[in-house]
Amino acid sequence: MYLQVDNLRVKYGNIEALHGISFTVEQGEIVTLIGANGAGKTTTLHTIMRLPPPEAPKVVSGDILFKGKSLLNVPPHEVVDKLNIALVPEGRHIFGNLSVEENLQLATYGRKGDPTIAKDYQRVYDLFPRLAERRKQRSEQLSGGEQQMLAVGRALMTKCEFIMLDEPSMGLAPLLMYDMFRTLKQLNQEGLTILLIEQNANLALKFAHRGYVLDTGEIVASGPCSQLRDDPEVKKAYLGG
Ligand code: ATP
Repeated sequence: MYLQVDNLRVKYGNIEALHGISFTVEQGEIVTLIGANGAGKTTTLHTIMRLPPPEAPKVVSGDILFKGKSLLNVPPHEVVDKLNIALVPEGRHIFGNLSVEENLQLATYGRKGDPTIAKDYQRVYDLFPRLAERRKQRSEQLSGGEQQMLAVGRALMTKCEFIMLDEPSMGLAPLLMYDMFRTLKQLNQEGLTILLIEQNANLALKFAHRGYVLDTGEIVASGPCSQLRDDPEVKKAYLGG
C-alpha cells in the first residue's frame, strides 16, 4: 500500500478533530476527501505532512504509513525532501514580495546540487505558460488563478511524487478551475499520485478515481467516485440534491 491512514485519532488541545479515520491511496491514483466546513479535511493533510502544532494536531492513536513505514516520527522537512510528499496549502501561501522564479527557487532548497533542477523549471513553465511570461514579476501582482498555478508549480519543484492539494479550486473562475484540473490530470497520467480535498464535491467526484466523505471527524462513505455520485445520501448532503 502507498499511503495508509489507519484508525487515526488526533486532538487540538482537548478537542478531538479526527475520531479514528482510515483510508488509503494507491500509487498512481487520484483520491478525494470531501466534506463540509470543519469536517477535518485540512487537519488530515496537515497531520500527514507532520506539520508542527498549532497547524497540526497531536496524534492520539492510529498510524500513517507511507510505503509501509510510519510517518509519525518523521520530521516535516524529511516528509518533503526524502519522501517526496508535497502539500499545496489552502490560500496558496506564496511569498508575495518575491518573484515567480524566486518562489519556485525556494522550493528547491532541499535539492542543492541536483542537476535536474533546470529541467524541472522548464517543466513548470511548460505546464503553466502564464508563469513563464511572468517569471520576473512579484507574485503578489499575480491573479488568484496564477497564484494557484504558482503554488502547484512550487510543489512540483520539490520533485514530489505524491501531492496533496487543499481546495485548489477556491476563488478560481470556472475556466481557470477547469484548466487547473486538466493540468492536474495530465500530471497524474505522467505518474503523480494525488490526494485532493475539496468543498466543491461535484468537481472533485468528477476528477478523482475514488473518494471518501468526511463528516465531523469521521468517514461516513467511501468508494469509486461514480458510486458516490449516485449515493442518495451523498447527493442530498454534498451534491446539491
Ligand atoms: P474547511 O473546509 O472549513 O477548511 P476542514 O474540513 O478542512 O474545513 P479542519 O480545518 O480540518 O476542517 O477543522 C476540523 C476541526 O478542527 C474544526 O472543528 C476546527 O475548528 C478544528 N481546528 C482546525 N485547526 C485547528 C487549530 N489549529 N486549533 C484548534 N482547532 C482547530
